[in-house]
Amino acid sequence: MKAKGVTLINLSKIYPGKKGNREVRAVDNVSLDIEPGEFVTLLGPSGCGKTTTLRMIAGFEKPSGGDIFLGGESIRHLSPDKRDTAMVFQTYALFPNLNVYDNISYGLKIKKLSSDEIRARVTDILKLTGLEGLQNRHTNELSGGQQQRVALARALVMEPGVLLFDEPLSNLDAKLRVQMRTEIRRIQKAVGITAIYVTHDQAEAMSMSDRIVILKDGQIAQAGAPKEVYYRPNSEFSANFIGTANILHGTVQEVNRDGTVRILVEDVLLDRVPVGERTYRSGEKYTLVIRPEACSVQEKGVFEAEVTLSTFMGAYQLYELELFGSKFTIHENNPKTKRIYKIGERARIELDISDIHII
Ligand code: ATP
Repeated sequence: MKAKGVTLINLSKIYPGKKGNREVRAVDNVSLDIEPGEFVTLLGPSGCGKTTTLRMIAGFEKPSGGDIFLGGESIRHLSPDKRDTAMVFQTYALFPNLNVYDNISYGLKIKKLSSDEIRARVTDILKLTGLEGLQNRHTNELSGGQQQRVALARALVMEPGVLLFDEPLSNLDAKLRVQMRTEIRRIQKAVGITAIYVTHDQAEAMSMSDRIVILKDGQIAQAGAPKEVYYRPNSEFSANFIGTANILHGTVQEVNRDGTVRILVEDVLLDRVPVGERTYRSGEKYTLVIRPEACSVQEKGVFEAEVTLSTFMGAYQLYELELFGSKFTIHENNPKTKRIYKIGERARIELDISDIHII
């Protein structure tokens, strides 16, 4: 299988407004380079343009502007069947009247491969996707997870340059979803195929991707490795979209020689706070992002706050505190070993300054 790179250049899709409605810029000047063999997830809230982007790559939707390259060649003018892509859909889209083997081999038959080659390729894929022994079953005799494996097998067997996933796990129950995301990632790595995966589930994006592309209103809000977007979000939007974020605002008092800053948050002065890539100026206001698991509820700490929620979650105690008139969330890990604060108690929020991220 020859994995191919994908390049989007100023890709746009504008839907004209009907009956006096304004036009919709579903995808607005998106440029992106995806390496061969990379697993990239398009993540964002409903309506941000994820599906439209994917469908333009597959050829199901015509771009209003820009271009799409696959393996260095423009595919913008090719019909979907002429593109070296394969799509796995949320609804599986299997042929209900065919058994598993015939579903998987369907595309190869259309390509007129010899029956020996078809058999060899389907046998390999059945093994890879854990479907051995089920080849004679009809698709209505399969569980949701098995149907999704058939859909994946049917796409993989075509050995496409890029595999496209449109929210493939949305119809599965929570436990199976977690299992299948590991499976898909394992198979993608084993085959070395390029994958573009659309989801609005941030846990899915974090656990599967080499790179996450966060979309907002048809534009790229941030693109980076899961750890990068989690620990170094470039906006309040990205910070809130990936995981839970506590947002505070403060005024920089001084930019230290080592590049860290001294910042005043209400009446609390924090020194040596690490910063992002932009230039920071004394006297200006900035946004601070603090993750819930980086904090602890203690007798001593940086901020004083009132506990408004204290709930045992097993792996952690979920706290909400009122700090400067806003909600501050803390995940206190391994609560068995800690003093548990109750609703209404005053406590302090303890955190390591290096865990603060300034946007
Ligand atoms: P979801 O997670 O809900 O599927 P999405 O991020 O995949 O959302 P898209 O389906 O790409 O979003 O839609 C992006 C925008 O384009 C939305 O505002 C949507 O209403 C609009 N849109 C999509 N298809 C059409 C269409 N055929 N005609 C007009 N507007 C459309």
